[in-house]
Amino acid sequence: MIIDMHAHSFPDRIAGRAMAGLIRATRGVLTSIGDGTLTNHLDQMDHDGVDMACLLQIATKPTQFEVLMRTAKAIRDGEFGERAQRKIIPFPSVHPADPDLFAHLDEIAAEGFKGVKFHPYYQDFSLADPSVWPMFRKVADLGLVVECHCGYDVGYPDRFDACGPKEVAALLRNVKGLTFIAAHLGGCAGFGPHETDPLVDLGCYADTSALFCNWYRDEEMRLLHSWPTERLLFATDFPWTVYSEAIRWVKEFRDPADWDAIFSGNARRLLGI
Ligand SMILES: [Zn+2]
Repeated sequence: MIIDMHAHSFPDRIAGRAMAGLIRATRGVLTSIGDGTLTNHLDQMDHDGVDMACLLQIATKPTQFEVLMRTAKAIRDGEFGERAQRKIIPFPSVHPADPDLFAHLDEIAAEGFKGVKFHPYYQDFSLADPSVWPMFRKVADLGLVVECHCGYDVGYPDRFDACGPKEVAALLRNVKGLTFIAAHLGGCAGFGPHETDPLVDLGCYADTSALFCNWYRDEEMRLLHSWPTERLLFATDFPWTVYSEAIRWVKEFRDPADWDAIFSGNARRLLGI
């Protein structure tokens, strides 16, 4: 079984506009696989034998909670078809500046969603800012999983101050019991070798989405090889990666004895599926 912990796609009718914005934001650094539609996403998953994918939303403004929540519920309730209902695990998103932040987090948990996605650059906050720790405390108390962009972001090439290893460490030291998945192999991109190592001892999870089209970057390969098996989750950041390539890369650097845990076991444990 294969679960992708980190993917993006959009309802078919809005995908064109959403993808145009994202492609502009990536400044040509990343190439989209397919057209960004949920339908294409499901087709690609079926083609490469991916059973389920967490669909990560990002509320870039406080007002976006409602519309994103509507989409998440529609997927859950089968309005986008049986295949989406069966294979897609929506992760809603709240903006830290949302005046109804805590009520919206309660709603996410009450509706049965498993986790929330954060992106500090697109949401204009730092993980090390004590003013956001009560939000993460609430997330932890609700038993929700956090999947968070970490490290360099192609859309913000000059910024390293919101979700690098130091900021993740500050959060995890101050919000105990938080299940925190640091995307892109702990957010190593943009930082020196071994800078993410302290995160391992802080209980941090890492996803295997690689952020760059070049699979053979030294620090990414080292972390993929060495991050504790029980805290590593297969992920792709689709549509910026071909599923078959992402699967091959993880298999190349991990012993087959680890594959079950990394490709689905850890995700099933964290998500309760
Ligand atoms: Zn992503």
